[in-house]
Amino acid sequence: MRKQIAAANWKMNLTYQQGEQLLDDVLNAKIALKENQLAIFAVPFPYLIMANSEITEEKNYFVAAQNCYSKKSGAFTGEVSGAMLADVGCQYVLIGHSERRSLFHDDLALTALKFKAAQEAGLIPILCVGETQTQRENGETEKVVNAQLDAVLTLVGINAFKQAVIAYEPVWAIGTGLTATPEQAQVVHAYIRAQLMKNNVDIGRAIRILYGGSMKAENAASLLAMPDIDGGLIGGASLDATSFLAICTAAVNSK
Ligand code: PEP
Repeated sequence: MRKQIAAANWKMNLTYQQGEQLLDDVLNAKIALKENQLAIFAVPFPYLIMANSEITEEKNYFVAAQNCYSKKSGAFTGEVSGAMLADVGCQYVLIGHSERRSLFHDDLALTALKFKAAQEAGLIPILCVGETQTQRENGETEKVVNAQLDAVLTLVGINAFKQAVIAYEPVWAIGTGLTATPEQAQVVHAYIRAQLMKNNVDIGRAIRILYGGSMKAENAASLLAMPDIDGGLIGGASLDATSFLAICTAAVNSK
């Protein structure tokens, strides 16, 4: 049975105090995550130590960074290595989020190198893939997602996906209030799984594929009910304890 994951992506939001309060509120709600379910908080770098100390007693809760660099150390002013993240208790890291790809020029090759570096540091990468509105309208969704997957597969090989999570995030749905319908999302999730299963049936079947793109309390249950959707990567709705908890509850109650 694949693990359901509710992963919060705070992006560059919240003060330190607000972040601490939000974590307290979520943890105090004592959501009964089942054995196979996880909640992950992708927080800004300066909050990682605080977030890790907040969740340290909690079995199913983990902390993620939102990015890491592809090199182990050196003269890379402003960058943070996977080893540094692991050092402060981080277990997961977002790789290739669409905002990294579009705003910070993380191209296919760099994203693949970051994925590799994260794993070499002992982190579990959450690889984000997804098409823009224009690419969808041009019928290029599969081609785009496949190229994003393939760049990583070519560099690290299928076995690396044993210790990885994928997030399908249609760019047109991120932060826009537009959400893919459960059926639209399921088609792409099934495609991603099939692509991985072509390389290794067991790994493709076992990998968790999250949906991201304006997931909220109102639409979480129907998305999470889809057979190939194994959780959510949640931006805006993760900044409010009540709405994030509602999504966690939907995950607890889903298949
Ligand atoms: C995201 O940032 O990964 C995301 C899915 O954002 P939102 O939920 O706000 O669309």
